[in-house]
Amino acid sequence: MKPSDFAIGSLESRALARMQAQHIRGSKRRIEIISNVPRPQHTLPPGTNHSVPYAEPWQETQGGVLLRHIYRPGEWKTLPTETVPVCPDCGTSFRQRKEQIGDLAWFEADCMDRHI
Ligand SMILES: [Zn+2]
Repeated sequence: MKPSDFAIGSLESRALARMQAQHIRGSKRRIEIISNVPRPQHTLPPGTNHSVPYAEPWQETQGGVLLRHIYRPGEWKTLPTETVPVCPDCGTSFRQRKEQIGDLAWFEADCMDRHI
């Protein structure tokens, strides 16, 4: 069965075309680039800022790979720290990474699944 088996614009042809598009999109290789460096302000979704995790929309590269940038905020803290940063949007405490530089530790947003 293919969309052209049905009348143009019919429910059946549109449903088949939609299913084909979803299959093609779903079978493409995907790359997510997760960074703690904010992207330029103009790429931010409306109503957000650089203190909350966000994902830019998927974009198809010339090679047919789907690519998107994800921003994960974080900050350096001197240990021991009494103030663990929290996400200003959902209130989740940042998570301390295991790697340290001297007495400096990186704390990163731990609420990616809530915002992305
Ligand atoms: Zn959050």
